[in-house]
Amino acid sequence: MRILVVEDEKKVASFLKKGLQAEGYAVDVAYDGAEGSYLAENVDYDLIILDILLPNKDGIEVLKELRKKGIHTPVLLLTARDGVEDKVLGLDSGADDYLTKPFAYEELLARVRALMRRGEGEGVRELRYADLVLDPLRRKAIRGGKEIELTTREYSLLEYMIRNPEKVLTRAMIAEHVWDYTFDTLSNVIDVYINHLRNKIDRGFPKRLIHTVRGAGYMLKEEET
Ligand code: CA
Repeated sequence: MRILVVEDEKKVASFLKKGLQAEGYAVDVAYDGAEGSYLAENVDYDLIILDILLPNKDGIEVLKELRKKGIHTPVLLLTARDGVEDKVLGLDSGADDYLTKPFAYEELLARVRALMRRGEGEGVRELRYADLVLDPLRRKAIRGGKEIELTTREYSLLEYMIRNPEKVLTRAMIAEHVWDYTFDTLSNVIDVYINHLRNKIDRGFPKRLIHTVRGAGYMLKEEET
């Protein structure tokens, strides 16, 4: 398992590198956005830990370019601020998760493990609900014969929903199962991901699959709009 760390703060970078190496990961470090882009495009990583504020090219730009080039390596963004805009911008740009600085080492490791696990793929059997098909091998969704690209995290969320159809899934349940973590601050993020999935899965189809259950959470269910 090979991880790329893109972080200009030498102390943080070396702390990350040593810690991740101690866990058995191979780690490369890039100290600015341009170097990060170059490595991310030319080396096959299992995960990229990407700081947002970087010299030469910021993390969001690096991320957007990667996704545009069809590189879907899971990306964990490091944000300095706790601003919701930063997180939303990051997630909209194709990040799979984020961590706000300063973070606890255990928290970082939990996120890294979760993203790595998602990347491995948990099964090979297709999952179906109504006219929606999930392909666990390619981590794609197909609806009405149309292939839909999903990020690692979007895929995980949709997989959790399709394994539990027509049941109310609370935000706490989603946080626990999809993020492997319980977080009060996660509810915003879950809503952002649900909106992403709606745009990808439901837009343009006569029957909606992703429903909000008021005051409770979300449900996968086939229903006329
Ligand atoms: Ca920085």
